[in-house]
Amino acid sequence: MISERTRLRMIERLRQQGIRDERVLAAMYEVPRHLFIDQALATRAYDDVSLPIGQGQTISQPLTVARMTEKLLEGKASLGKILEIGTGCGYQTAVLLKAGAQVYSIERLAGILDKARVNLRNAKLVHARLVHSDGHQGLPDAAPFDGIIMTAAARHVPPALLDQLQTGGRLILPVGDQEQFLWLYEKTNNGIQKTKHEAVHFVPLLPGKQ
Ligand code: SAH
Repeated sequence: MISERTRLRMIERLRQQGIRDERVLAAMYEVPRHLFIDQALATRAYDDVSLPIGQGQTISQPLTVARMTEKLLEGKASLGKILEIGTGCGYQTAVLLKAGAQVYSIERLAGILDKARVNLRNAKLVHARLVHSDGHQGLPDAAPFDGIIMTAAARHVPPALLDQLQTGGRLILPVGDQEQFLWLYEKTNNGIQKTKHEAVHFVPLLPGKQ
């Protein structure tokens, strides 16, 4: 059993680490993170670490999930329609859903996507559209998006993703190879504005689907 206290401790740690948006903290308090990882690792579910989720992929550490969600929400009344690339175990998807987003999420590995579907169902969060596809192309049928979040590291920003952003929309993603940084792209009436944020460590964005 994962106690209430364990979950609260994660939220308190996120506050100390500088997360201020109560909407993000509430969503992360409510999502049972231990349901998204293997039982053998469940005791570490609320620690500030990334953990393996199979097929060489990882669930991001809580601070990174919080930071990226906070960046999408900053100065906004709501998240609106969000495209996630790299569903993984579905934890970030769950946090976005709890924070009120309408979520489309793309994963290139069918086996991982199946697990995410089970995890999200166990967490009673069934409203995301999960798509087995290569995220480089985005999801033109459902575009434009108010926000796009990519949870695998790209060498270069896929141009389709910027095309599929609404004016006023934001794209947050890790860019780099060995050395990676979070970048925020905002589509304004005057074009794209980009800002560089902290160093991160994500698995790479890979081509094609399997
Ligand atoms: N947000 C996830 C993080 C998963 S790790 C979580 O909370 O668990 C990144 C995921 O991106 C992996 O599952 C990987 O298979 C996926 N991925 C990598 N390249 C991709 C691509 N081109 N399109 C879609 N998914 C991709």
